[in-house]
This record gives sequence, C-alpha cells and structure tokens, in this order.
Amino acid sequence: MKKYKINSGVLFLVDKNWLIVQEELLPDKKDFYESIFSLGNGYMGVRGFFEDELNKKSYEVSTFIAGVYDYIKNGITDMVNTPNFFSSRLVIDGEEFDYESSKICEFTRILNMKEGCLTKSLIWEHGNGHKTRIETIRLLSIVENHLAALQYKIIPLNYTGNVLFETGIDGRVTNNPISDDQLKNEIDTMVLLQHKETGCDNDISFLSVSTNVMKYEICEAFTVCLRENGEKKELFKIHNEKNGFISKKISFEIHEMNEYVVDKLIGVYTSRDKEVLDIKNAAVSLVKKASELGFNYIFDNNLKAWEEKWNTADVIIDGDYESQLGIRYNIFQLIQTNAETDENVSIGARGIMHGRYKGCYFWDTEIFMLPFYIYTNPKAAKNLLMYRYNTLWGAEQNAKGLNLEGARYAWMCSIDGKEQCETWDTGCCEIHITADVAYAINNYFQVTLDEEFVKNYGAEIYIKTAQYWKSRFTYQKEKDIYNMLFVKGPNEYGGVTVNSTYTSIMAINNFKFAIESVEMLKVKDIDFYIKLKKKIGFDESEMLEWKDIIDKAVINYDSEQKLYIEDDNFLKLEHLDVRKFKTDETPLYHKIGFDRLQRYMVLKQADVLLLMTLLPEMFTYEEKMAAWSFYEPITLHDSTLSFGTHALFAAKCGLSVEAYKYFYKSVRLDMDDIMGNTGKEGIHFASFGASWQALINGFGGVGISDGMLDVRPILPEMWTLLKFKVIFRGNILKIIVTQENIEITLLDCEENIKQLDIKVYGSTSRLIKANVSTFIKK
Ligand code: BGC
Repeated sequence: MKKYKINSGVLFLVDKNWLIVQEELLPDKKDFYESIFSLGNGYMGVRGFFEDELNKKSYEVSTFIAGVYDYIKNGITDMVNTPNFFSSRLVIDGEEFDYESSKICEFTRILNMKEGCLTKSLIWEHGNGHKTRIETIRLLSIVENHLAALQYKIIPLNYTGNVLFETGIDGRVTNNPISDDQLKNEIDTMVLLQHKETGCDNDISFLSVSTNVMKYEICEAFTVCLRENGEKKELFKIHNEKNGFISKKISFEIHEMNEYVVDKLIGVYTSRDKEVLDIKNAAVSLVKKASELGFNYIFDNNLKAWEEKWNTADVIIDGDYESQLGIRYNIFQLIQTNAETDENVSIGARGIMHGRYKGCYFWDTEIFMLPFYIYTNPKAAKNLLMYRYNTLWGAEQNAKGLNLEGARYAWMCSIDGKEQCETWDTGCCEIHITADVAYAINNYFQVTLDEEFVKNYGAEIYIKTAQYWKSRFTYQKEKDIYNMLFVKGPNEYGGVTVNSTYTSIMAINNFKFAIESVEMLKVKDIDFYIKLKKKIGFDESEMLEWKDIIDKAVINYDSEQKLYIEDDNFLKLEHLDVRKFKTDETPLYHKIGFDRLQRYMVLKQADVLLLMTLLPEMFTYEEKMAAWSFYEPITLHDSTLSFGTHALFAAKCGLSVEAYKYFYKSVRLDMDDIMGNTGKEGIHFASFGASWQALINGFGGVGISDGMLDVRPILPEMWTLLKFKVIFRGNILKIIVTQENIEITLLDCEENIKQLDIKVYGSTSRLIKANVSTFIKK
C-alpha cells in the first residue's frame, strides 16, 4: 500500500487514491471546501466548517438531520439547520486562535474516504513567537448514527503555557431559506429553533431545542476528556449555559512537546426517533456509553464499518488517478447521505449537506441515484422507495389540489410528499416525476425480483399513478388521439409545451406497469388483490382507458430521419449559436433570462437522450444515433444531471471518446467545481449517481436484457482495468474488465442455487459459484 505524507509530516497509512487533500488555507475557496468536506452518516450531515472558527454567520455552520423540516410559510418547509455540536474555541496564554487573524502555517485538511473521517493539521504561530500544532479528527459514526466525535490535539512546539479550551453545542444557528428560483441570491435568515432546556447530568451537558411549527424536539448531549501523552487527566470542567448554548470550559497547563488530546463525544436524538421514549435520556446514555468505549474504539469501529461498505461499493479504475479519486468521492457521498433504515425520508438534491432547494427531494433520487443503491445495497434502495409509498397520501392531495385523479408525485417535496415548488411552470407542469417513481419501482424489481415489494407497495403506487395519468391526458375526439397539454419535460428550457416525448412515453410505461402488476396480483395472490381493490376503490374497467391511451397518445416521431422530437413546439424554436454564448460551464440562465431561453432551440439537460438510456430496448441503434446527432450539439448541460446521462448514452452506443469526456465532467463535477457553484450551492447528489451509472452501466456495460444480466463493457483507451461488484437478484458478482478480457466471478448466491446464467455481449453463459469465467472483450 502506498503511504501518503502530508506537508505537516503526518504519515497516512492510506493510499492517496482515498484522500481528498486541501494543502492551502484559501479564504476565497472557503465555501468550496466546506461543501467538499461535508460529512454524513445518513442520520445527520455536517458541512466542512472548522470546529474552532469564531467568525461564522449563524446559517453557515450547518448541521442537518434527515427528515427534520419545519414550515417557513403556509405549506412550505425548509430543512432545519440544527445545533452545531462541534462548536469550539482555543485560547492559549490569553491569545485566541482565529482563522482570520492568527498566523497559520503548514495547513492541511484531509477527507479520508477509506476511514470515514475529516482531519485537519496546522501550526499556529502566536504573536509572541510561540508555536502550537493543532490536529483534529472528526467523524459521524455509521455504526451508531446518533453518535458524532471530535478529537482535538494541541502540541506546544516551543514553549510551556496555559490553555483554555471551550467546546459546546450551539443552538443559536439560523436558516437561510433558499428558494427554488435559481437566480435568487437569498440573504435573509430565519430562526427555526426555540430553546427548550439545557443542563448537565453527571458530567454530560445537554441542550434541547424544538422547531417552531412541527415541534420536532432535538436533544444533543456531549462530554469531553483530556489526555496528556496518552494518560488520562482528571480536570475541573466549568459547565456553561446561555440561552440556546451550552459548553464546557477546561483550563490546563501545557508543556513543550507534550501532546494534549481532548476527545469530545456527542449524542443526537430527535422526536422523529420513534423507537426512543425520552430523547434526552437516550442522548445522555449514548454519550455515557461512548465515553466508556473511548474515541479510539469508536474510530476503529467506524473504520471497520466503512471497510464493509467499500467491500461491495468500491470501484477500481487503473490508469486514471483523477477518475479513480472522483468515483470514490461520488460513492462516498452517496453512502454518507443515505438514511438506510428511515422509511420516511429520501435524499435531497444536495443530500443532508446543504440547504439548497430547502433540502427537498426530486426525481434526482429515483432516476439518478437509485441504481447505485439497487446494485450495491438493495435494502437501502427499497427503503428509498418506501418513502414514496409512505407519502402516497401527499401525492393524492397534490392530484386533488389540481382537480385530477389518483396520485401525483411532487416536483419537489419534503416531509409528506406535498408539492414544495413555488414556481407555476415547474411546480404544476413538470410532471414526469410521477412516472419516474413508477419507473424506479420497476427498475428495482428487475434487478432484485422483489415480488413482495411490488405486491405490498408497488402495485398500489402503479395503480394510483396510472389513475393520475389517465386524468392528465386530454382526449381529442375528432382525431381520436390523446394529447398531453401544458407539460414541461426534463429540458427545463423547453418551456411549458405540448406532448413532451419523455413525459408521455414514461407515462405510457407507467400504465403498462400498472396493468402488469394487476395481472401479477391476480395470478399470485387473488385475495390480496381483492382487498387492495376494495381499499383503494379501484375498478378494473379503468384499465380500458389506460390501454386506449397507450395506443393513441401522441408521440412526435420523424420516421424519415428516425428522430424522436422533444415535443410539439421544438421544431418551431429559434436557432441559437451555442458556441458563441456558452463559452464556459456557467449555466446560460445567468446571461440569458429563462423566458428568452425558452424560445431558443437549446436544451438545459438531457431529455430524449435520457429517455433512451432509461428504456434502451424501446429504441433502435439508428434512432439513438439520430437523437444523439440532433440533441447533443444543442445541449447546454446547465444542469449537473446532464453530463453523466450523456456519458452513459455515449458508452452504451459505443462512443467511448465522447463517453469519457462527459464522464470526466460528471465524476469530477464538485471536486473540480466545474459549474462554479459547489461552494455556494452544495454538492450534487444526482450527478454522483449519474457518474456511477455511466461507469457501471456504461463503461462496465451492466444492464438487463430479456430478464437476464447482460454485460457489455467498453473501456476508455487509457484505462487498464475497471473492477467492481454488483448485486443481482441476491447474487454478488465481481466483474473485472481489462482492455483484453472480462473476468466474472459469482462470489455469493443462494445456497441451493450455486449458479447463474448471464449474458456477455448478448451470448448466454453459466457462472458457477466461486469460479472465475473469462470472456474476450469486444
Ligand atoms: C434540474 C432538475 C433537478 C433539480 C434538482 C434543476 O436544475 O433542472 O432536473 O431535478 O435541479 O437537482
């Protein structure tokens, strides 16, 4: 294993392909690093602000807890910024350490993705010539996701002096609600937390707050201990309480070159944690238990849990360091932000790492991120789909509110599935999310064959969403056709239009899933089906109309050019010289207003091309190439969802050079700040998922055809190896692709089966458990 030495002399026993390193303290890139260094454990997420920073605005120290939203106005929620449990300050011999005014040398921060922690190391040169090395490690445990830990190390390098270290929990944080209008620069803050209780229970300090409207209670507790050169030191701690803030102050003498380590252990519970009766007790008991185990034990346990995660989820790319590090970062964030066992939350467009879009959930989860979970952690994928089942009621309210039938999933939503989008065109007309949810359920089913899920939850969603679509198409009697009026497709520069090809074909598919699930239920469990029909008031005769729409919905297709046209208006739009206006990756809506953009023949992001990656078997190669030649040159990629989709499309069509170009932009999107908004708007989870799909389903060539796993890899020229694992219908497969061969090993499968038939480039082969099968790469 390669060792990585950082400039402060710390030696990491970790290959540098696992480390994201910041070696300079750049004030104008502060936001960027705070986004990049976000940590999470599914339950909570903390941006990478410094724990010992004095001059931060109250909304910039953001700590989010999955599912904790509160209303900021009628019907509209924001993800609540919860108390900052890392809050600390250091004073030595009367001088306070401060990133703005102190002299800082040898600064390094490292996100260690292998070990799941963020470290910092620096030397503080005091005004009087004294030098202090400061090193910190922070983590949010993925073993016990109510637990966070901070280790703060102080080494006086050339003096003996006195330290005052204060560390606490700061509930005086505020929110900076960011609306869905992409051009608005929000500066107003809001206070969403009310102070409830502070106190100290056997050396464990706690703070309880509650949200204004939802009345979610949050209790955070912590304790600290000090060690000098590894030896525990008993010390006097002053417990300090102010309204909304608690801390412990510790003072001690420090001696030249001795190591002083403060370990802070933190427990976090909210009233959303239904398994817990008393959240204060739970937080205090967790801290007590954690302090008995100690920081090192917690660190090691967390590291082991990360090793397990990486064991299935890691991907190795040889021959391309940047892509290797990039994909690890994408995967790391996808794992970090997913609340694996909470069926009442999904993943926001910026995870639990940033308040952009008020923390709302979009189709980003189902279309872009879900495949990663389906193939590497099917339980987590099911859990994400359960959020949609559990908010079906909200989706029905959305439909009712628009005088429609069935269930309509919101463009963006939070606690209960109700529409959170406040702009009319997007909020009312960008309706494909409803079909995207149905698609995602089927995608999950194809890979897992989880019939129980479809029976117990999926079928009800399919039927109610089909009912919605039936009421959303408009029948044109004289032509005997169905139109989809006032609709906005994924290309948000396409305006409100008619017959969005993406939306109509996905809706048709939604009808098909509903019909298939009804047929399946009738065969597999008729009693259940009868009960379901009664429960939801479903009358089978409705299916006649569904079938009629499947046959007669308008789809714009130019049969001469074999081209699917985006919608009824697309060919009427004005030409725009894209190369003249789009000179860098900054979204064009910053230069040309949305209204004007809507009349140009340009795409914000993949639309028809995306459809073709989702339903590859529906379109011929010629149709795909016609679409690529037509849409790719006029796509602006002003949404981060676009690069990965183009990479996947290109890889599947054998365009490896184009595929790599787009993959690179997607996989390095945040690390290289390609759109220039990572700092201000947070990290982009849909892009992480899209990169993974481009890599595994595109270059790795993993897909399904005729109900079987079909592997058709294609590697960029410079890659010498691509290695990954996928879980397919309970089987774990290891796939290694080189420029010459493909090696596939069936690592695990059901005891009594021990074999699996798959396809490689379309030809069927039988894999035997533990045997390596080698195929020649085409
Ligand atoms: C994109 C949407 C996306 C949303 C959240 C918008 O800019 O156009 O497709 O769902 O961002 O990521």
